[in-house]
Amino acid sequence: MGRRPGDAQSTGPRGMSEKKHVKPDTRLVAAGRRREWTQGLVNPAVWRASTILFDDIAAMHDAEPVRDGILHYGRNGTPTTWALCEALTGLEEGAALTRLYPSGSAAVAGALLSVLAAGDELLMVDSAYGPTRAFCDTVLRRFGVTTHYYDPLLGAGIADLIGEKTRAIFLESPGTYTFEVQDVPAICAAARARGVATLIDNTWATPLYLPALALGVDISILACTKYIGGHADLMLGSVTVTEPFATRLERTRRVLGQTAGPDEAWLALRGLRTLSVRLARHQESGLRVARWLAGQPQVARVLHPALPSCPSHEHFARDFKGASGLFSIVLKGGDEAAAARLIERLTLFGIGYSWGAFESLAVPGHVTRTCGAAEREGPLVRLHIGLEDADDLIADLAQALASYPG
Ligand SMILES: *Cc1c(COP(=O)(O)O)cnc(C)c1O
Repeated sequence: MGRRPGDAQSTGPRGMSEKKHVKPDTRLVAAGRRREWTQGLVNPAVWRASTILFDDIAAMHDAEPVRDGILHYGRNGTPTTWALCEALTGLEEGAALTRLYPSGSAAVAGALLSVLAAGDELLMVDSAYGPTRAFCDTVLRRFGVTTHYYDPLLGAGIADLIGEKTRAIFLESPGTYTFEVQDVPAICAAARARGVATLIDNTWATPLYLPALALGVDISILACTKYIGGHADLMLGSVTVTEPFATRLERTRRVLGQTAGPDEAWLALRGLRTLSVRLARHQESGLRVARWLAGQPQVARVLHPALPSCPSHEHFARDFKGASGLFSIVLKGGDEAAAARLIERLTLFGIGYSWGAFESLAVPGHVTRTCGAAEREGPLVRLHIGLEDADDLIADLAQALASYPG
């Protein structure tokens, strides 16, 4: 008797998406779809809940300990959020559990708070997302955690920075704005040898293009706001962990009161179904635009991990299965004001924060560095290449660049 797509084939409430033998694109289609959650619909309903009513006190007690798949209280999830969690867990080889947060930044904070305590030291990549740095420099600092920033191009040499109090190493690859590609396996091996936890912000690649846990990372964080949602209409974050970190993550989330709304989870699950085709198009157009930009006289450098000119491109070639649509250019000469005029001359690129949705965006790059910043030939502009026709985007960039730095 054959199984039908979406039939429950689970091994437990945390169940990794079964069908491990099929390829990721196939897994994406029915991931997290259990019949008891969908009642046969292709997509689960949006379950909005705070109170769950029990028949009697015994039934109320039976809902504990809190676990996915058993309705307990709104903050602990409903079938809509469990379906997304299970789908995200199923995308990561070696994953045991996924928890949701109201934004990517909340996911970063929730993950760090689940592994750190007063007196601990954290090694944070110097090219990390700005709000991640700010969390370390303000809240973690206030609670007695010391953050040391390390060079994103440091690989196995990170072993020299691991001290008695080092409890965690945070990676983000490629780096925000500057796109350095880290040596993830070497850093994870050094961490594991010393019993230090590793966390990665995997928002740029998603598990489809960087199988972080399979490379040795313990905790993988996504701003689902970006590519998972994919339509610029939701804020959501996720943290996916290996088994040894599952209990800590969930306990910390629960006492912090972190939870995600069912509408956001539903939209993210819907976005997830088309993630692979969207990423393929972001990759193809992004590379076309990047290669064209590399040949323009106003452009000093293109910081795109898939181009050999990008710092540590060899790590990209070895570890990544693809590139998404976000990269930067370093302009030749000119200043911040000239870069702003360039961005404002673009007609097909929106000006705004976030990225990963279907539309192209351009913003000035703001680079903060503790370990020392490389000299640049001019201002940095970050581009997100959306799903528009790449020829149109190139024509738009050509007209805007024509008068640069004017
Ligand atoms: C946007 C972003 C975040 C934060 O996500 P929000 O949902 O906006 O809070 C974290 N990390 C990276 C790399 C991001 O680009």
